[in-house]
Amino acid sequence: MYQQDTSLYMEAFSTGNKQELGKTSYQLLLIAGLKKEIEMARKLDPEKLAAEIREIGFCCQHCGKCCRRAFGDNKVAVIPSEIERIREYTSFSRLEIAGPFVPEAPTQDEASEDEEKWPETSLRPSEENKESLSPERLESLQEFIDFEGKIHAFGWILRRKRNGDCIFLESYTHKCRVYSVRPMLCSTYPFYIEGLRLQTCECEGLGSPISTEESRKLAENLLLRYVSELEDTLGTYENFVDFRRGKRSLELAKMSLKKGTCTCIVHDSEGSTEVID
Ligand code: SF4
Repeated sequence: MYQQDTSLYMEAFSTGNKQELGKTSYQLLLIAGLKKEIEMARKLDPEKLAAEIREIGFCCQHCGKCCRRAFGDNKVAVIPSEIERIREYTSFSRLEIAGPFVPEAPTQDEASEDEEKWPETSLRPSEENKESLSPERLESLQEFIDFEGKIHAFGWILRRKRNGDCIFLESYTHKCRVYSVRPMLCSTYPFYIEGLRLQTCECEGLGSPISTEESRKLAENLLLRYVSELEDTLGTYENFVDFRRGKRSLELAKMSLKKGTCTCIVHDSEGSTEVID
């Protein structure tokens, strides 16, 4: 599914000299670029997009593969308004619904090991981050760790069960428990827009006929998602204040992980949230 490029955030917030409003010239450039892209995204023609979707073709096979880790990257990036919508619909708290989007790069072997090691349980969702972070992985995250050993993350992803499947996926039926309020990424899958162009992810449903009405609905949702995600990224850039790093940052984070805790600061368009998992 959607993979947010968190490395861009770090590049944006650690490169160059600080200028107006405490932002570097590179950050200001990115903010200006995002504003331009939002302006252009708002002008995209939904009819043209719907025609492109019809040309590609799509019919959901209801296989649930896009929600399951065993079939690939199933991370679902969500923005604060989507978390809120699910919160209102379920009895879950915001932090039970979504966790920090901590950069991770599991190898294929690690992913299949997880599948074998961790049978599906009703795991407390907050345990996922601790499980996915190892001292080695922390080392690759050094730039994201502040002087208190807290890991800075940019944005949220839906919590996943121990076996990596989305927390809202029903185990046996593969139905979505929050279907009517599911994130935009899910309702527009396998399509997305990047750099003003329609793109697709791997999906068995591609290539099947789609009605004009369905393609129009999908095109509208895609445009809404595209603009909403860009606006959220812009808000994150605008809000973000860089954090202090220290010589013992990594050591402190490792010590904390050893004790079984993981503290993240999540930056989003609404500000920063401390999450202790
Ligand atoms: S929210 Fe629903 S549709 Fe989206 S990944 Fe989870 S189970 Fe699948």
